[in-house]
Amino acid sequence: MSLTEKKCFEVAIALVKQHHKEDLLNAFQKILEELFSDDQIDIYTVNNGLLLDSESISHKESLYRSIASRKTVFVLDDNLFIYPIVSLGKVTHIISLQGDSVSKKPCLLEQLITLFSQQQILLDNNNHDALTGLLNRQSFEKRIASVIDDRRRRDAEKPPACCFAIFDIDFFKKVNDNFGHLYGDEVLILFANLMEKIFRHDDMLFRYGGEEFAVFLKNIDLDTAVVVLERFRHNIEQYDFPQVETITVSIGVTEFNIGSSRAEIISRADQALYYSKDNGRNQVHSFEALISAGKLIDNPPDINDIEIF
Ligand code: GH3
Ligand code: MG
Ligand code: MG
Repeated sequence: MSLTEKKCFEVAIALVKQHHKEDLLNAFQKILEELFSDDQIDIYTVNNGLLLDSESISHKESLYRSIASRKTVFVLDDNLFIYPIVSLGKVTHIISLQGDSVSKKPCLLEQLITLFSQQQILLDNNNHDALTGLLNRQSFEKRIASVIDDRRRRDAEKPPACCFAIFDIDFFKKVNDNFGHLYGDEVLILFANLMEKIFRHDDMLFRYGGEEFAVFLKNIDLDTAVVVLERFRHNIEQYDFPQVETITVSIGVTEFNIGSSRAEIISRADQALYYSKDNGRNQVHSFEALISAGKLIDNPPDINDIEIF
């Protein structure tokens, strides 16, 4: 099959019009399946050098692992092509294609990979915070809207539990004042790294503001979320930050209810966070537990902020 100019154009458009990374990956997979329809195609996600879904590829696991960490290698073995996709210096995916058609047009595959990874970099730059690499405030606004929409659509079938937590580093101003802005920045980067280590891959992690962070914890009830957040709080307290040594974090969490609005969810997590701050810092509280213990009276967001649905 020879690719017409029109087809090339269509393929490029299908990739560049994607605004979410998951949609981009789906579009990319669809294109590969169309162009190499006789071949076996598998795409694996790599996170921090670790291969996800590794059970399904156990027979070649060590080979794939070495590709995931070496970045630039590709292997050709009996019509089997294994390519790492590199984005901003990190391997994000591994593609394996096996069959006749890929061996006839490896250049086409390489060009598609380049296009995919360029688009991924573009999305990363738009959606991620430059200092910590976590999702930024703009993506937070988009994601919270889409999580709420998704839950409303699934209303009848009772969507899985999901929680939202806000973190605020305690007395962070003192870190800057005592050690300088650069050490302050280093704390923010290490804090984000610890978030990536402790929360699950499909939880969404955000830098919400200067020294404020947020997370959507997926498929988890409130009690379990509090346990995970306590573990995170403890990890931060124990971590030896260069020069600064110890920092602590205050956390507020709430559970998504059916019909909760964006403003209500943020306000509830925020009220729980401020309870933590006002009662000694370095603690985790859930809005729901504070309300049922009579320790907090709900102060709902301004009516103008509430979405009508
Ligand atoms: P609290 O326990 O009440 O939260 O006290 P705090 O000092 O953490 O809170 P405050 O809001 O008074 O100070 C936040 C500080 O965070 C002030 C600001 O200079 C600093 N900050 C915000 N963004 C950045 C950043 O990107 N880098 C550095 N180094 N500092 C930042
Ligand atoms: Mg703050
Ligand atoms: Mg603070």
